[in-house]
Amino acid sequence: MGNKLKCPKCKREVTWENNPYRPFCSKVCKLADLYSWLEEEYRIKISDDIIKDFPHVELELKKVNLKNSKKIKKE
Ligand SMILES: [Zn+2]
Repeated sequence: MGNKLKCPKCKREVTWENNPYRPFCSKVCKLADLYSWLEEEYRIKISDDIIKDFPHVELELKKVNLKNSKKIKKE
């Protein structure tokens, strides 16, 4: 059995062992995948700038959601 697999996001070969982001190769791909899932969930258009700034992805999402819920209340 091999201990290597391909990242589902970027198809790069990744090591399974000692990889906290498995099955992804890195935090970037893990968050990018989470992001695309959430994007579908909330129907929000995500800008590339936010994805580039991946350590803040979760924070940005919360802000966007907050903005959206405020907008809904206002209208
Ligand atoms: Zn990857």
